[in-house]
Amino acid sequence: MKERINENEFSYMDKNFTPKGFGSTAVHGGHVKDPMYAHQTPIYASSTYVFDTAEQGMRRFNGEEEGFIYSRWGNPTITEAEAKITALETHGLNVEAKGILHASGMAAISTLLLATLKTGDKVLSHYSLYGGTNELVTKILPSFGITSVIADLREANKVEELLKADASIKMLYLETPANPTIQIVDIEALTGIAKKYNLLVACDNTFATPYLQQPFKFGVDFIVHSTTKFLNGHGTAIGGILIGKDIERMKKGITKTHRLLGGNANPFDAFLLIQGIKTLELRMDRHCSNAVKVAQFLEEHSAIEKVNYEGLASHPANALAKRQMRKAGGMLSFEVKGGLQAGIDFMNRLQMCTRTVSLGTVDTLLSHPASMTHFSVPKEHREKYGITDGLIRMNVGIETVEDIVGDLDAALHE
Ligand code: PLP
Repeated sequence: MKERINENEFSYMDKNFTPKGFGSTAVHGGHVKDPMYAHQTPIYASSTYVFDTAEQGMRRFNGEEEGFIYSRWGNPTITEAEAKITALETHGLNVEAKGILHASGMAAISTLLLATLKTGDKVLSHYSLYGGTNELVTKILPSFGITSVIADLREANKVEELLKADASIKMLYLETPANPTIQIVDIEALTGIAKKYNLLVACDNTFATPYLQQPFKFGVDFIVHSTTKFLNGHGTAIGGILIGKDIERMKKGITKTHRLLGGNANPFDAFLLIQGIKTLELRMDRHCSNAVKVAQFLEEHSAIEKVNYEGLASHPANALAKRQMRKAGGMLSFEVKGGLQAGIDFMNRLQMCTRTVSLGTVDTLLSHPASMTHFSVPKEHREKYGITDGLIRMNVGIETVEDIVGDLDAALHE
């Protein structure tokens, strides 16, 4: 029986037949023929795996033989999800990589930072960043002697000055488009500068997904995702993935850190993720076309102060987004005129669009950072980062766009 191993290939198809398209890779990538001939890879709900002999157990432990040992270390359903996402992040590129699925996006980010940085090192990142990542680098890592430099990474020349002045900066951590301001940074330009100073470069590709943006194309070393979002697509499971191009490092130091920190994914969530990814291309096309229409509607609306969507010609990074992304994505944010109460009133009047945090689901979701996720952040502090009282973050879903626009319009008018 062929062992299921971590191959980013279509190993149930003839070696000479490899589908070329992104959509085919999303459907078939990472799948291997099931030993029981199940059409869909089952949920392998087994914590441990059996050895035929003690010698086989020894060979698996010393790495002479590939195969599963214990589900914190690897599991067939999880392996398929890892291989599928890795196949998408490397699709059409001459790049090999290895992915490790985690219990959450934050678990993947924790493994990355703890496996690659040591006491005295610094990580350089953009000031608009997912709040959890920001807290991890500013509140948790300092107790291990790892600190951060937070800068405006849209100004590439300033980044070079920072790196020249501080040799302890060892990693550049990007998130683009960034949460919640939808700011875009130039992955290729920043990676080029970082490599001159021998930095590792990581990119959080959660908002874009590999369908819209492939950071490996621009030279980054690591990609992380919260798979909770567009990859799953239906809001049914929390998960994350860390993908790296240095296969040896991924297999050794990073795998060790992942296994010992214990942030492993579970097979049920991996199963849901696999099903979700199969429709990624279709969903993203619709998220994007709906988002363009919603952004145009909001930009024209008299109750709106400002729209942040890189797909609009008026967005300062519109040309950059066109260069590094296939389309502009399903996330946008906008400022309602009238401050905090106007933001709260708008949110309370929504009917079909859902008031919640998180993103990437087929239904439209809106959150109001000032009264929700960033409630505890002092006003002056969050406003510096573009999180104003009236800022609304929106995941534009795949519903009929006229219904989304109609719901927003009614909530803005009353
Ligand atoms: N990265 C980004 C851009 C996110 O938006 C999030 C969560 O919202 C995370 C990482 C963390 O992911 P998770 O909630 O799966 O741990």
